[in-house]
Amino acid sequence: MRTSNIGYCDYSGGDLNFVLGCTAVSAGCANCYARRIYERFGKDFSKVTVYPEKLARLLKWRPKPPYKRGAGSRPLAFVVDMGDLFHKDVATNIIRRFLVLVWDRPDVDWLVLTKRPKRMREELLRWCATTPPLPNLWLGVTVENEDNLWRIDELLKTPAALRWVSMEPMLGPIDMEPYLGPVHVDSLGVRPRNNWDYWRAGLDWLVIGAESGPDRKRRPLRWDWAWDVLEVGRREGVPVFLKQDSGPHPGVPLLDREGQEVKEFPPYQAWRFRDREGKAS
Ligand code: SF4
Repeated sequence: MRTSNIGYCDYSGGDLNFVLGCTAVSAGCANCYARRIYERFGKDFSKVTVYPEKLARLLKWRPKPPYKRGAGSRPLAFVVDMGDLFHKDVATNIIRRFLVLVWDRPDVDWLVLTKRPKRMREELLRWCATTPPLPNLWLGVTVENEDNLWRIDELLKTPAALRWVSMEPMLGPIDMEPYLGPVHVDSLGVRPRNNWDYWRAGLDWLVIGAESGPDRKRRPLRWDWAWDVLEVGRREGVPVFLKQDSGPHPGVPLLDREGQEVKEFPPYQAWRFRDREGKAS
C-alpha cells in the first residue's frame, strides 16, 4: 500500500478505497476531485461500486513506520476517500464488515469522513447496541459552511472514540465554539464508555483546507476564517490541522497569523476506555 499525499494521514487509496463512486449532496461537492479523476477516464462516478475483497486484504495488511504522529504511534489510515462509506448504495453488511475489520486491527487508527452523518449515526448506534465504541475509529464529517453545521449535531450524537470535522473546502466563516465542549473524563483521566454524556462530549480534532485543482471555478478560502477557528481551538484545547490553501495543486501552505504551519493531532492516548468491569484499557 502506498503512503498518502494527504497531509494528515499515513495511508489512503488502494485497498482502503473499498467503496468507489458517489453523488453530490452539498456545496462542497461542486468541484469533487474524485469525480474529476473518474471523468478524466470516462467513468461514471455516480455508480457506487463496492470491493469486499479489498476489505479481506486489509485484514492482512502490514503497515510500516515511520508515521506522521511520531515514534511509537499507530498508522492513521483514511478509508474511502473517493466516495462516501455511508452513501445509500453501500450495503449495511459492508459497513458492518468494515467495523469488524477495525475491531480486528487495533494496531491501526481508521479515519472515516462523511457528508451523510445520519446514516453513520444509525449504523454506529446499531453496532454499539452490542459492542462498545471502537477506540481506534475516528469518525468525521465535512462542514464546508454554516449551512452544514447540522452534520456536527449528528456526529455528536454518534458513539465514537474520536470525532473530527474537516472544513475542506472551507467556503465561509464557521463558528465552531458551540461544538468544542469539555471532554468528559473521570478522576483517572479516562472517558467512561456506554455513557450518553460521553457521547455528547465535544469535537476532538479540526482540519481546515481550501479547494485545490485546475478548475477556474476553484473557490478561495479567506485566511481569517481559518484563523478564527484556530483561535477557538486554542482556547478550548482542541488540536487543529491547517491542511492547505487554494491552488492548482494540493499542498499549498496555509499558515497561522505568525506565518507558521499548524499540524496538530489529537493526543495519542485521547481515547482510553473503561471496560465493562471498570478497568482502564
Ligand atoms: S460526498 Fe465527497 S465523494 Fe461524494 S460527491 Fe461529495 S465531495 Fe465527492
